[in-house]
Amino acid sequence: MTLSEQVEKLRKYNFKITPQRLRVIEYINESPGHFTAEDVYRSVVKVEPSITVATVYNILRAVTMSGILTSFEVKGTTWYETNLERHANFVCLSCGSIEDIEISCNDLGKGAESKGYKVENIDVIVRGYCKECLSKGLSPEIMN
Ligand SMILES: [Zn+2]
Ligand SMILES: [Zn+2]
Repeated sequence: MTLSEQVEKLRKYNFKITPQRLRVIEYINESPGHFTAEDVYRSVVKVEPSITVATVYNILRAVTMSGILTSFEVKGTTWYETNLERHANFVCLSCGSIEDIEISCNDLGKGAESKGYKVENIDVIVRGYCKECLSKGLSPEIMN
């Protein structure tokens, strides 16, 4: 999605493009992968010193509603990503890294729809240990 397409989508949600909001959108475009509001804040505050974490949260929520981002929760933390394709997210229980696993989640949606539910969103989180952590050997504290 180009920046102008994103701005167009946001305008449909009456989302006015302010300098702070534009910085957040730039961060989203420059940082593919998974990120939290704190990640965005730490980067954007360097160029927009008056921005607050609460403002970043509000911007990310609006941007997610407009369909530019998708989000999911891990242990109470909201993660955002630009990968809008349905996929599973693998979360490492040791280092916390998150990676995309391309799988078809369509059957999950169909299962719910066959019961008459309307599916809005499917979050699939796979938990385990990443290759890097496995190669280092599991230390006792991560077994908790
Ligand atoms: Zn790991
Ligand atoms: Zn992902």
